[in-house]
Amino acid sequence: MIYLSHQQLQQIQRHAEMVYPEECCGLLLGTLERDNKRVIEVRETENSWTGDINENLPHFPSSNQQPLSKKNRFSIDPYTLLQVQKEVRDRRLNMIGIYHSHPDHPAVPSPFDREIAWPDYSYIIVSLKEGKFTEIRSWKLEENQSFQEEIIQIVA
Ligand SMILES: [Zn+2]
Repeated sequence: MIYLSHQQLQQIQRHAEMVYPEECCGLLLGTLERDNKRVIEVRETENSWTGDINENLPHFPSSNQQPLSKKNRFSIDPYTLLQVQKEVRDRRLNMIGIYHSHPDHPAVPSPFDREIAWPDYSYIIVSLKEGKFTEIRSWKLEENQSFQEEIIQIVA
């Protein structure tokens, strides 16, 4: 279960709608108690995907046969990730997950998402249709490398 405040939910929605038709991405800072994750802060990051990144990864065709671009790929700059990891340690928090958007696609992980996913993190995906938020879902990588859905609890 992952706990998200109404305000944090709105922040993710706004971010996704703002960068549409590109994918947005960001980090979820929070606390972790057994299987319960509580988001303390949503940290928006830039989608730093470039064609070069793909050269180091197995190739997946985009699901809608569009050329690969920020409209169907996202990447968080490794330096930003490192900085935030350091920050959460200092603040005695945890990096609990990553969110990104799927413009005009359902909020389910793609093969590419699975390839770049780490265990233990929550992967929140927001879906947009014609620039407007439609759905939010969270996923967690299981030991067999498949994604299982995780319940999102919206709190005040
Ligand atoms: Zn994705």
